[in-house]
Amino acid sequence: MGLEERARNGTGWDAIDVADEPQVHAGAEWRSELYRIACAQFQRTADVLDLEPEFRARLLEPRRSLTVNFPVRMDDDSVRNFTGYRVQHTLTMGPTKGGFRYAPGVSLGECAALAMWMTWKCALLGLPYGGAKGGVRCDPHELSVGELERITRRYAAELIPIIGPDRDIPAPDMGTGEREMAWFMDTYSQQVGHTVPEIVTGKPPVLGGTEARRPATGLGVVYAIEGALERLRWSIRDQRVAIQGFGNVGATAAEELHAIGAKIVAVSDVRGGITNPDGLDVRAVLAYKAENEYVEGFPGAEPVGRAAVLEVPCDILIPAALERQITAENASRLACRLIVEAANGPTTPEAEDILAERGIPIVPDVLANAGGVTVSYFEWVQDQQKYLWDVIEIQERLRRQMRTALTRVGDAAERQGVTWRTAALALAIERVAEAAKLRAIYP
Ligand code: GLU
Repeated sequence: MGLEERARNGTGWDAIDVADEPQVHAGAEWRSELYRIACAQFQRTADVLDLEPEFRARLLEPRRSLTVNFPVRMDDDSVRNFTGYRVQHTLTMGPTKGGFRYAPGVSLGECAALAMWMTWKCALLGLPYGGAKGGVRCDPHELSVGELERITRRYAAELIPIIGPDRDIPAPDMGTGEREMAWFMDTYSQQVGHTVPEIVTGKPPVLGGTEARRPATGLGVVYAIEGALERLRWSIRDQRVAIQGFGNVGATAAEELHAIGAKIVAVSDVRGGITNPDGLDVRAVLAYKAENEYVEGFPGAEPVGRAAVLEVPCDILIPAALERQITAENASRLACRLIVEAANGPTTPEAEDILAERGIPIVPDVLANAGGVTVSYFEWVQDQQKYLWDVIEIQERLRRQMRTALTRVGDAAERQGVTWRTAALALAIERVAEAAKLRAIYP
C-alpha cells in the first residue's frame, strides 16, 4: 500500500512490525545515495588532511533540518499534501546559504548532501556562509503557475522559524528561478510587515536582484574552464565541448564557450540530445529551443540520448544536469579529456577512481559551479547595504574570485599530489575546521 493510500484510509500502519525494524544508527536519517557520495568525498579528504576525529564528527553531519508537510489546494479544487525540507549543514561560518529545488526525487538525504557541498563551496570561495539546501518533492512540469505559487508561498511560510537574512538565505536551484524567489520574498515580507529583499538571492532585478545572477553559474563554469585550460596548457580554440543539460547553466556555458572559440559538439535536455561533430550553431539551438521547448529535432544535428551525450567524443565534458550521471557503469566509456562539473554531485567516487586511472582530470562541482552562490553573495551584500552594484563590476569580481579559487586549488593539488576535488575539499574543510576550533564548543 502506498503512503498516500495509507494516509487516506488511515490503515495499513499496523502491518509494520516495529520489532523487525533495525535500530536507528547515528546519521541514519540522512541516508541516501547522494549523502553516501558526499560522505565518501569528505572521508577521503579528511584522511589526506589527517583531520582530528573531533572535527570529522563536528563537520560531517548537518546541524539542523526541518521537514514540513503541507496541504495545497490544486486547480481542480482537490487538496494535495506536499513534503518539503530545509537542511542547514553548518552554523559555524555565518548564516547558511543555498538554493531550494522542485523535483520528484527531493528527499532529506539529498538535501543533506547538497547542503554539505554548499558549505565547502562557500568556504572555498571565502564567502561568509555555511551551507544549506532545501526543496519540495514535486514535479514542477505537472503543476500550473497558480499551483507553483501556492506551493512556494506555503513552503516559505513553513520555513519562517529557521530562515532570515542573517540566519539562512535561500536561492534558486533545480526547478526554481526568479519567479519563485519573488513569491518567496513577498511571502516572507508579508509575514514580517516590511519588504526584505535580502531574504533570498536570485530575485528579479527590480526586486533587489541583479542582472548578473541569472548567468552567474554558467559564466563561473567558463571562468573555471579558462583557468583549468591555462594550467593544462590547452587553448580554448576548437576544443570540442559536450554538455548534458541545457537549462540556465548549460545554455549560458554553451553560449559563452562558443563565443570564445570552442566547438559545442553535443547538448541535451530532459527530453534528449543532439550532436554534430563539426559543431552546433549555439544561437540557432537556443532559438530553436525557445520555440519548441526542447532541443530534440534541431535540424543539422543527429539525435543522441540524454545518457549517451556523456559518451560523445569531445575534449571537455560538462555535466550540467542531474547528480550521479557519471558512474562506474559508464566511466570507462567516456571519450573526453577533461570533465567540468556544472551540476552538483554528477560523478560517483567509484567513477572518479576509474577516471583518475584513465588520466581524465575533473574540475569539481564545489569549484566549477560556485559562480552562482558567489554572485548571490554580491546580491545579498548589495541588498544589506541598499547600494546597487554595476553588473560589469559584479562580473569582474566573479571572474577574479573564480580564477583565484582555481589557482589555489591547482597549486594545492600539485603540492599534495592529489586530485583537484580532494585539493578543493581540503582547502574548504581546513577553513571550516579552523573556525570550528576557534569557536570551540558551547557551553
Ligand atoms: N543553488 C545554487 C548552488 O547549488 C546556488 C545557491 C545560492 O545562490 O545560494 O550553488
